[in-house]
Amino acid sequence: MEHKAIRIVETNAQRAAATGLRQAPTLAGYFFTREVCVENLRQNAKKTANGTPPQFKMLFLETKDACNLRCPPCYPDATFVEKKDCACAMNRIAEWKGAILAGKEAGIETVAVAGRGEPLLDANLWELAQFVRGEGLQFVLFTNGTLVNKEIAKWLAGVCTTVITKLYALEPQAHDTLVGVRGAWKNAREGLMNLLDAGMRGPNLGIDVIIAKPNETELPTLLRFARMLGIVPYFERLAPIGRGAKLNGNFVIQEGRVDEIFATLRGIDEQEFGLTWGFAQGMPALAYAETDKRMAAFHLDVFGNVQPGLESGRIMGNVRLAPGGIVEILENGRKWGQYYVPLAREAGIDEIKIAVGG
Ligand code: SF4
Repeated sequence: MEHKAIRIVETNAQRAAATGLRQAPTLAGYFFTREVCVENLRQNAKKTANGTPPQFKMLFLETKDACNLRCPPCYPDATFVEKKDCACAMNRIAEWKGAILAGKEAGIETVAVAGRGEPLLDANLWELAQFVRGEGLQFVLFTNGTLVNKEIAKWLAGVCTTVITKLYALEPQAHDTLVGVRGAWKNAREGLMNLLDAGMRGPNLGIDVIIAKPNETELPTLLRFARMLGIVPYFERLAPIGRGAKLNGNFVIQEGRVDEIFATLRGIDEQEFGLTWGFAQGMPALAYAETDKRMAAFHLDVFGNVQPGLESGRIMGNVRLAPGGIVEILENGRKWGQYYVPLAREAGIDEIKIAVGG
């Protein structure tokens, strides 16, 4: 998923200083400031132009490509399955561990499970989470929340740095429309309550909310709900890829209107909660104008492909095909340079003047 360049007018810290308000909390392990992202990109462009391997802050992993929901905006287009069909999850634990260890050598601080499928349907999630924490890294988990019973909530609270669970609306019909399964809201809400009961709160607990037509009028209420319960509202722009690329006006809100919605939500935060965050046209998520995953992350998808950022569509290699696996792919500095040098130029890092070879 290639994003347009975001022109930051103010960072979260600058907006807070200008207004005298507090910076809104962001998700632990999942927020990198503009300075950190740009510096990572600057270093990567310099290094990779000379064939030196890049460094990263975050690794995205995908678990099994299967889900018990049918969200119309699902960008990875996950396959719908009932829970009982999921016992056959391909065991990719060795692949994940290899990527985590190689990522750690390359500087990662966080492993985030996000994207394709519902992680709680993958029996190997437990081993993965424990391995990540055992390596001293932060573990961030996106889940649709429908399978989070009391026992699982306790386990997640014990092992995860941060859990982000879906709740698209406080009104069941809007939520169910956006996840494509009637009755899902009840389970998602119960999952969130179980996480709260297990002691999770912001910055370690967030709700993931796609901004779309069915929940547009619900967003102010949902923001207030999150703030009052101490949950981080991760309100995201709908990505026009995967199933999201096929959506019509019943779901999609025009880009400019999404910016207006962010501005309205910031007004609520500032006036009612004394919280603020930087704003930029085209920003991907509430309070997340600064974090550009393209600059600081890499992604191992369910097919074994390694990509810069998250779903960038640029494949740097496949861990199942490369003779040297993940290490060989990450160490191919020249190939990463073909991605990072143009990105650095796009970001206005003008000291990158080195031509990149093949
Ligand atoms: S919960 Fe996530 S993986 Fe499942 S259908 Fe929805 S967007 Fe796709």
